Amino acid sequence: MAKTIDVPVLKPYIEIPKLQPDVMAGSGPYIAKPDMQAALGFRGELPEDWQSIALNKMGELLKKYRSFQVYMDACVKCGACTDKCHYLLGTADPKNMPVARQDLIRKVYRRYFTLAGKYFPKLVGAVDLTEEVLNDWHNYYHQCSECRRCSVYCPYGIDTAEVTMAAREILNSIGRGQKYSNEIIGKVYKIGNNLGLPEPALRDTLEGLEEDVEADIGIKVRFPLDEAGAEILLVTPSADFFAEPHVDGLVGYAKVFHQAGVTWTLSSKASEAANFGLFIGSYENMRRIALRIREAAIELGVKRIVFGECGHAWRVAYSFLNTLAGPFDFLDPRYPVPQHICEFTYDLLQSGKLTLDKSVNDHRVMTFHDSCNVARASRMGNVPGGQFTIPRELIKAACNNFYDMAPETIHDQTYCCGGGGGLLTDDLLELRIKGAMPRMQALQQATEQYQITHLAAICAICKSQFTKVLPYYGFKMDQVISVHQLIGDAIVFQTDSEHPENNTVT
Ligand code: SF4
Ligand code: SF4
Repeated sequence: MAKTIDVPVLKPYIEIPKLQPDVMAGSGPYIAKPDMQAALGFRGELPEDWQSIALNKMGELLKKYRSFQVYMDACVKCGACTDKCHYLLGTADPKNMPVARQDLIRKVYRRYFTLAGKYFPKLVGAVDLTEEVLNDWHNYYHQCSECRRCSVYCPYGIDTAEVTMAAREILNSIGRGQKYSNEIIGKVYKIGNNLGLPEPALRDTLEGLEEDVEADIGIKVRFPLDEAGAEILLVTPSADFFAEPHVDGLVGYAKVFHQAGVTWTLSSKASEAANFGLFIGSYENMRRIALRIREAAIELGVKRIVFGECGHAWRVAYSFLNTLAGPFDFLDPRYPVPQHICEFTYDLLQSGKLTLDKSVNDHRVMTFHDSCNVARASRMGNVPGGQFTIPRELIKAACNNFYDMAPETIHDQTYCCGGGGGLLTDDLLELRIKGAMPRMQALQQATEQYQITHLAAICAICKSQFTKVLPYYGFKMDQVISVHQLIGDAIVFQTDSEHPENNTVT
């Protein structure tokens, strides 16, 4: 029988819970099967000598990533991060305090990589790498969404997300990968996207969308696939192809491209913006996934690459794409590589090339959820903080009613949706529901104050997570909306005679 989940009660403000040690022990995700591990270049199962393999891997990572070494040594136990994690606030398990999560690996680091830990382990809190420790790693490094909220408050800038990534890399090296993330990466290698949607099914879906949009607005808005010579390659999360509310965002991008008069295409080879290599901390897999985008761009001869609404995909694209898969010197140097769809649409608005009728969205009272990877690990536009202002400017250009949630829950202090970092799987549903509590609390507060009807987001994971967890907190699943749905709904189309470049290509 399925476990009953105690959904947290939303209070008027966030309370630090009374700690319940080990309440989330044993709540880790399913383990990847050997064939899933092998597809990613990892050991299939836990070998007998797993301790020495894990310690060798840890030594390798300490040398390779200077930050990991610094994070192991720099913590002064000041406590500033302890109550900043949504999973601690939602579950009350003290091992979900960021510093305690780091300590699960720091204690082992001290035991094997410091002199004091080798000779006086008890004095410095060093422990042997036992099976119990391994199980804690598996459980609690999969109760971190790598959201980086805690690092905002750490006076030393210690980034628990990077510690989690290192731990997951070590786990993969000994055959203890996570089923959800590794299975998805395998699908990307085999088929091209997270959903395992093959090219013919994708083509059918896009043709269906063209028909739906034409029936709806009487204009042939194109959804091209693998069209060589297009100006723009759109790389978007595969959830955009059919899941609600994501697909309405894709319709919005297509309408924007149509109105801009640019040619664009999707690619069946790079039919996925998501890059779960980031989540499992594997540079090799992150690179292999990113290279598909480079290959598709070259094969199709595009001039620009634009990313759709996906938080961690934008983090990988903004922060790492050039080092993972560059140089992109074959693209048009007048545009950023890559560019976010929000930047693209914002530029059009700024230059007066997009007209929006806000009144179309008058039945919506909007708020906006800053997605962690966009907010704390990337930027948009050419001014600091553009990742906060640009999506809000888009919403305000398309809607008359917009209100932010409480200041301590937005921008760089945003709370994770609860499902990021490779945790968007039903085997972690309890964690996801409880981890969503701080965001739900802020939403409830804003709803009471401003009668919010819709929560906009620019991340496929946030949209899926909210669709699932909103009903647990008394909201409706369809209150989640893509920013580009708001834009798409509000576009005032020029006729083809006013805008000849938009004539349908046959
Ligand atoms: S990175 Fe996010 S999920 Fe992980 S410990 Fe810090 S606040 Fe919690
Ligand atoms: S805020 Fe930083 S230094 Fe302080 S306990 Fe947390 S990780 Fe350690």
